[in-house]
Amino acid sequence: MPAEKISMNNGLLQVPTHPIIPFIIGDGIGPDIWQASVRVFDAAVEKAYGSERKIEWKEVLAGEKAFQETGEWLPAATLDALKEYLVSIKGPLSTPVGGGMRSLNVAMRQELDLYACVRPVRWFNKVPSPVKHPEKVDMVIFRENTEDIYAGIEYMTGTPECEKLLNFLQNEMGVKKIRFPQTSSLGIKPVSIEGTERLVRAAILYALEHKRPSVTLVHKGNIMKFTEGGFKNWGYALAVREFGDKVYTWEQWEQTKKEQNEEAANKALKVAIAEGKLLIKDVIADNFLQQILLAPQDYSVVATLNLNGDYISDALAAAVGGIGIAPGANINYLTGHAVFEATHGTAPRFANTNTMNPSSVILSGVMMLEYMGWKEAAEIIVHGLSTAIARKRVTIDFYNLMDDATLVKTSEFADEVIKQM
Ligand code: NAD
Repeated sequence: MPAEKISMNNGLLQVPTHPIIPFIIGDGIGPDIWQASVRVFDAAVEKAYGSERKIEWKEVLAGEKAFQETGEWLPAATLDALKEYLVSIKGPLSTPVGGGMRSLNVAMRQELDLYACVRPVRWFNKVPSPVKHPEKVDMVIFRENTEDIYAGIEYMTGTPECEKLLNFLQNEMGVKKIRFPQTSSLGIKPVSIEGTERLVRAAILYALEHKRPSVTLVHKGNIMKFTEGGFKNWGYALAVREFGDKVYTWEQWEQTKKEQNEEAANKALKVAIAEGKLLIKDVIADNFLQQILLAPQDYSVVATLNLNGDYISDALAAAVGGIGIAPGANINYLTGHAVFEATHGTAPRFANTNTMNPSSVILSGVMMLEYMGWKEAAEIIVHGLSTAIARKRVTIDFYNLMDDATLVKTSEFADEVIKQM
């Protein structure tokens, strides 16, 4: 069977039995954890489908390896391959110091317009956690990936650009609220209707497909009324407009309460839940960070803006055992482009030690297989990984926090996962 490209047809991903998938090995601990993970992926695909299906891995260069071999951190050929083959996976990349590029990851997200950063957060039995009930955490975060403060529109105080913007704000817009204008740097926070809608739509579609009970819009709309408040309002409006018969929203609850009374609103909510409708609710970001510690079971799919999503992902990852196990994906559901990746960095001190936890890349691969519709292989890996952890044969990060565990190397952990699949 010749290897073929994954393609997109009428909004649906077309995955051949022998797809070509580009991978970026990553810097620092990247090669160690990638080499362990790829063995797990191949073994799971073989176990699930025998010789019927097989991934043809295609290495593409980025980061230090790319710089050494081509003199460029992110060669055009790499971006072309990510575009052409649609689905890819990467290890962590170090950010080049100087050179005008903020981050390779951000460059890829922008170039492919990967607007949804998707991060599932769940606990695996026996993983050491700082909270009492990590098993209550089972959320999938949809973080908007292209807008907000992250658009990078900011100006250093004292520069002519900053001065110009300040003048405009003060003289043409009548702004008087900048406390120390002469020493303020200024930043701009764009949040659009289109950007909000495509992200919230993706979160709702995911929740419906995976039979999740709710989507929560997390925002700071009480303070930033038109940007974060806009996100909330546009999100609710989209939910009703596009998914009216499948959802029940807190806004509808409020409306019923206003028009009738609270009892009637609660009754309507109960009926909606009994009918299997997806609940769309919202919560203010600071409160949400409390709630994930106090009542994480109340949240399932979360849709949020870029900066909130950054904080929330790390806080939740810590609750279920830290970044060594947190997977992620950057997806454009319209074009099909998706880059799956570990959410941690390159941990350069541990490069080539074969000691770090490959779980985040392994679980990113699980997300990738699910995205491709290869659910059987994905389930096989989750089973192998959770059994390996439950048997306490773990890498140093978990070993240090577990009683009676056996310390294994990165490659040995992969062996154990494969053995338990
Ligand atoms: P880091 O995530 O690389 O490491 C912080 C610490 O987390 C490590 O010292 C280690 O103790 C632990 N850790 C990380 N990965 C682990 C694993 N797989 N198993 C066990 N423990 C693990 O963060 P940093 O030190 O702030 O960043 C180092 C470099 O990584 C920087 O150049 C940064 O720009 C880059 N970075 C890349 C990405 C990415 O490519 N997605 C993300 C974040 C940071």
